[in-house]
Amino acid sequence: MNTKKSPHTALIHSDYRAPAGFAAFPTAIHHASTVLFENVAAMRSGDWKDKNAYTYGLHGTPTTFTLEARLAEIEGGTQCLLAPSGLAAIAMVDFALLKTGDDVLLPDNVYNPNRELGRWLEADFGITARYYDPLVGAGIAELILPNTKLIWTEAPGSVSMEVPDLPAICAAARARGVLVALDNTWAAGLALNGFDHGADIVMQALTKYQSGGSDVLMGAVITRDRVIHDRLSLAHMRLGMGVGADDAFLVLRGLPTMRLRFEAHDKAARKVAAWLKTRPEITRVLHPALPDCPGHETWQRDFTGAGGLFSVLFDARYTEEQTDRFVDALQLFGIGYSWGGANSLAMPYRIAHMRKNWPDQGILVRFNIGLEEADDLIADIEQALELMK
Ligand SMILES: *Cc1c(COP(=O)(O)O)cnc(C)c1O
Repeated sequence: MNTKKSPHTALIHSDYRAPAGFAAFPTAIHHASTVLFENVAAMRSGDWKDKNAYTYGLHGTPTTFTLEARLAEIEGGTQCLLAPSGLAAIAMVDFALLKTGDDVLLPDNVYNPNRELGRWLEADFGITARYYDPLVGAGIAELILPNTKLIWTEAPGSVSMEVPDLPAICAAARARGVLVALDNTWAAGLALNGFDHGADIVMQALTKYQSGGSDVLMGAVITRDRVIHDRLSLAHMRLGMGVGADDAFLVLRGLPTMRLRFEAHDKAARKVAAWLKTRPEITRVLHPALPDCPGHETWQRDFTGAGGLFSVLFDARYTEEQTDRFVDALQLFGIGYSWGGANSLAMPYRIAHMRKNWPDQGILVRFNIGLEEADDLIADIEQALELMK
């Protein structure tokens, strides 16, 4: 167009195109709702499911497609869908795979908002949600009903830390044609390969280690099976699960350092956990790499590492008032949800209220060990234990 434009139009239209051939390591941040088609024919033949073309910002941009492809590769899968939070990713799986009359099995130690989702499915959607002992292993076979369509697993449960026997659960599920979804957030896709251990669907809260900055909320659902992926895609599209370009960039930015961060969290967490094990105030250290933790042998068999997240049980002689005082007295630990960032966190849980069956006494406190020096964290915990008494 060579006709002279008004400056008002020039605010919007320009013939300038930046030269092609720019290359740099970071993925470009593409902000878009509208995506332009070459012509009407291209628009008419556009398919929102096609990851090799663009139809609408919600269905993908070069930034989000790149993040999806990278996450699928890390997890050993072939397809990935992004969701605006880890919980949204869980909801996408449920809405894609369950319908009225179906049954879903959840571990009794499931991430609590996933349990809340189960309650909602029961109350308003005519889907039954039943809870199983996370250590049930092959015994899951006895719980599978003809209408059971999905089994959720978490390896390990992110508060009470039981490590499930994923291969045994998945083998029993496969024999009955039931799909298994794994919440693999604790292991970040680094310390456990969900697909190799039998899962059909792997979910990640990228909010945690992938972002690493305590500044992004995002989730991902990864598959190795085209048919399952297509069912998930339909729910993804129908529910309008888009993610912001800047957030996708932040997660992409976090990936190259995730291994280093994960290993640093792991090393420091094991040091702090081993020290806590020597303390008389603590009866059990629920860290999968320690024998106190239910499923420790399964962790040894299936995992190649641990992260920064573990819990402890205080001796039953300490009241909740005292353990609250302990948490309040910590200087280097923030009190807050989530984990996987540089800052250490401590969180007391009323675990007996969260579970159908919880045999232990004593208050549970969960630690996210950040990237501070482990000895400083230990000194901080030590002073807080003294103040508690
Ligand atoms: C944090 C978390 C989620 C949910 O992620 P959000 O992005 O906070 O919604 C799901 N599962 C586990 C195990 C988590 O720790």
